[in-house]
Amino acid sequence: MNTIQHWINGAATPAGSTRTAPVWNPATGEQQAQVLLADPADVDTAVSAAAKAFESWRESSLTTRTRVMFRLRELLVEHEDELARTVAAEHGKVVDDARGEIVRGREVVEYACGIISALKGGYSDQVSTGVDSFSFRQPLGVVAGITPFNFPVMVPLWMHPIAIACGNTFVLKPSERDPSASNIMARLYAEAGLPDGVFNVVHGAKPAVDRLLDHPDIEAVSFVGSTPIARYVHEKATASGKRVQALGGAKNHAVVLPDADLEFAANHLTAAAFGSAGQRCMAVSAAVAVGGAADALIPVLAEKATAVTVGPGQDPSSEMGPVITAQARDRVAGYVASGAEDGAVVVVDGRELAVPGHEGGFFIGPTLLDRVTPEMGVYRDEVFGPLLVVVRAADLDEAIGLINANPYGNGTAIFTSDGESARRFQREVKVGMVGVNVPIPVPMSHYSFGGWKDSLFGDTHIHGPEGVGFYTRAKVVTSRWPHVDRSVEAAFDFPTHG
Ligand code: NAD
Repeated sequence: MNTIQHWINGAATPAGSTRTAPVWNPATGEQQAQVLLADPADVDTAVSAAAKAFESWRESSLTTRTRVMFRLRELLVEHEDELARTVAAEHGKVVDDARGEIVRGREVVEYACGIISALKGGYSDQVSTGVDSFSFRQPLGVVAGITPFNFPVMVPLWMHPIAIACGNTFVLKPSERDPSASNIMARLYAEAGLPDGVFNVVHGAKPAVDRLLDHPDIEAVSFVGSTPIARYVHEKATASGKRVQALGGAKNHAVVLPDADLEFAANHLTAAAFGSAGQRCMAVSAAVAVGGAADALIPVLAEKATAVTVGPGQDPSSEMGPVITAQARDRVAGYVASGAEDGAVVVVDGRELAVPGHEGGFFIGPTLLDRVTPEMGVYRDEVFGPLLVVVRAADLDEAIGLINANPYGNGTAIFTSDGESARRFQREVKVGMVGVNVPIPVPMSHYSFGGWKDSLFGDTHIHGPEGVGFYTRAKVVTSRWPHVDRSVEAAFDFPTHG
């Protein structure tokens, strides 16, 4: 049985703890590896390595850091296939979908290649006679990233390239469910010339996370995962004085107005609801059909949901793979049952799906529920599986009201051919990322990514300019280089400009 080790100070290491967790093959239901689970002492070892590395990495020139990022970018292209197949094997998503997350993650490295521009400070000449003022930003120190299972390459890439390019050193605690991609990333950083100890990977679960959250040498924590854990991480790490950005779960609504091209909307809703088996934080999980749109939309959606090819992620003909664990499959099935009990109409039922030759896999097919109402559990909770619910609304006001009343605020979309409705929607909706005829509006890397309400705890969105702000702190220098003129007297009153 392959044992996945930590990566500390430039090398794979078993560290101290011998506790392990299984790594499943979701397509077969069999265990394919085990991953070490760090004890607090193992976390301390990684943080010490990162703290030591910070002493010299903080002094590295911007050119040195940028060159590492350019090389990493090329290595991510060269190793795209290896990474995508590793993700497909442990996560279960189809290989092409895994390639997509690698490309989107790579865009953050491309942004980090331009860190010299992002870190440019400001300069004001002659703010007072003979006095200049300028500002620049400095790295924080050792920073930590704690990431979810659903994007084992892209989500960590939202964090570490920016942190490292800004001069910090990094300890990543990836999901223990699909840990291998992070070790590949560590190897690629080493090949790119990153000094030992700047990027470290500690595998583990709650004890490892808890140690990161209260370790005195960790300056900042970036977290992405479910809302209860995001809230916990935010509370615990801020209580120990750290800077925190904690991105949580989602219930993403897509509004379909009667004037939308329904075939276009249904195609995009199907892909956005069932791609990656619905295990995307930006997956569309609730369609809000306005007015007469619902009756026209449901049969088209049903036809498309039934036509999705479900199979193992490594099979090139698969469009959708299994979910991550048997528990996840059973949770989704439970929500279908509870929705039906609460009065929803099960239009397409994925519970009985069988994938020949993969009977033990964690498969559940695309599922469509109509006439779902806001008080139903299947609407209120994040289900995180291939389940699309349709809620009917009388008009755009009601649709916007529904979205704004929802505790989550990650992503949302509107399908319409009317510019005025789209503009009203984008201005009035209380959600961080909005798509207009774009179902999954994940911002490009030179913008920042983040939700509102219970989808994000903390003040900054992740990567892009807000990421640079998060991983650095500002310094302002007021400077005078006078010819010594002893007639200028030191003043005891507060200095004013003159
Ligand atoms: P999760 O919250 O279970 O786990 C995330 C991380 O927290 C993992 O590294 C895990 O080991 C750790 N963790 C889990 N339980 C913990 C505990 N009790 N104490 C301390 N640490 C703990 O999330 P997941 O199931 O891996 O990922 C799916 C969730 O992530 C969904 O809710 C999804 O919406 C969310 N997500 C959000 C975004 C976003 O950008 N907002 C992006 C991707 C995923």
